[in-house]
Amino acid sequence: MEFSQRILDTPSSFIRNILKVTDSPNVISFAGGLPNPISFPVEKLRESVNRAIDEDGSKLFQYSTTTGYAPLRQYIADKYNHNFDLGITADDIIITTGSQQALTLLGQVLVNEGDGIIIEEPGYLGAIQAFMLAQPTFYPVTLEQDGLNLDELKEALEKPNAKFIYTVPNFQNPTGLTYTQEKRDAVYDILKDYPDIVLIEDDPYGELRFEGTALPYIGGGRLPNSVILGSFSKTVAPGMRIGFIISKNKELMTHVETAKQAADLHTNIFSQYVLHDYLTHNEYKEHVEKIIDLYGKQANAMLDALEKYMPEGVTWTKPEGGMFIWATLPDNKSALDMFSKAMEADIAFVPGDPFYTGSQHVPTLRLNYTASTPEVIDEGIKRLAELFKKY
Ligand code: PMP
Repeated sequence: MEFSQRILDTPSSFIRNILKVTDSPNVISFAGGLPNPISFPVEKLRESVNRAIDEDGSKLFQYSTTTGYAPLRQYIADKYNHNFDLGITADDIIITTGSQQALTLLGQVLVNEGDGIIIEEPGYLGAIQAFMLAQPTFYPVTLEQDGLNLDELKEALEKPNAKFIYTVPNFQNPTGLTYTQEKRDAVYDILKDYPDIVLIEDDPYGELRFEGTALPYIGGGRLPNSVILGSFSKTVAPGMRIGFIISKNKELMTHVETAKQAADLHTNIFSQYVLHDYLTHNEYKEHVEKIIDLYGKQANAMLDALEKYMPEGVTWTKPEGGMFIWATLPDNKSALDMFSKAMEADIAFVPGDPFYTGSQHVPTLRLNYTASTPEVIDEGIKRLAELFKKY
C-alpha cells in the first residue's frame, strides 16, 4: 500500500501519544489538556436531553443542514454581538465538529500545496496538525509576552504566497499568554494593509478569564477577512464536539460550507439541539463562573509552587485565564531530554518541541493545571523542581 504524501508528512499528535504512558495512576500528570469534569453540567444536560426529545423528537435523529441548527447559530450571534459588538447575524456562523474541524476546513479552503501559513511560534499543536494536511509552508512568528513579534510578522506578510495568519489571542495553548490591547491594535494596523490575508483568531478559552478584563478581538468586526473560531468544549462538554466559525466574508463561508459538506455533511444534530436547550434553560454565566473559580485557584497553586520550589534560571508565564503555564529551562536545556527522566520520577509534562514548526530540542515545556488539586499540584511541581535541580 502506498500512502499520500499529505498523510506521511502529518505527525500523529505527540500529546495523544504520550498520554498513553502518562495515564498511569502513580503519575502526577501536567501533560494533559483536558477540561476539569466540574465543567460538564451533567445533570442539567440530562434534563436537556429529555426536554429536547420531548419537544423535537425525531428531528434530533434526522440528517440536518450543513451550516448548523439555526437557533444555536442565532444564540451565538446574539452573544458575540452583545459581548463584542461584532454586528453579525446567524448567517455569518457555521457550526463545526469542534473548532478543530474549522481548522481543517480553513486549511482545505485556503491553502494549496506550498502556500504560506503564518503561525505563532510556539503554536497550538492541533492547528499545526490540521494545517499540515494542506501541505503548506509554515512561516513561524515568535509569540512574545504581549503577542506576536511585529517585525517578524511584517517579514512573513511579505512572502509571496502567505494565505492566512493563525492566532490564539487569549490564554494561548501552549503558553497561556494573552495579547495586550496595544499589541492587538498594532497587529490590526499592520493587517489592514493586507486585505487578501485572512486573520484567524482561535478562541476556545476566552471566557475562562480569572484575572483582568476581556479584550476585543484583533480583527473581529473591523477586518474584512477576519475569522473567529469558538467552541463549547472548554465551557460545556468537549465530547459533544460543538465549535463554530464566525466570518462576515460570504465567499469564504460558502467555500467552508462546501468543504464541510464533503467532510461530514453536518455537525452532530443531537448535540446541537441538546446544547441549545441547555444554553436557553440554564444560567450559563454562573456555570462558567464556577469553572473560572476552580481554574484560578489551580493556576495560583501552580504559580505559588513554581515560585517556592523552582531553581534559579527557570522562568514561566503567568496566565490570566485558560488552562496552561509555559516554563523555560535555563542554558537552552532540552525539555525533551528531561521528559523521560521526569517519567521515571512519575511526573509528566509536555516538552515544547511539538509546538514549534521550525525548532527542535527547545528548552520549553507546557504545564496543565486543570486536572489536579492544589495539593497534587504542589507535590508535582516539587518533584519536577528536584529533578531540574539534579540535572
Ligand atoms: N484550538 C485550540 C487553541 C485548542 O486548544 C483546542 C483544544 N485543545 C482546539 C482548538 C480544539 O477544540 P475543540 O475541537 O474541542 O473545539
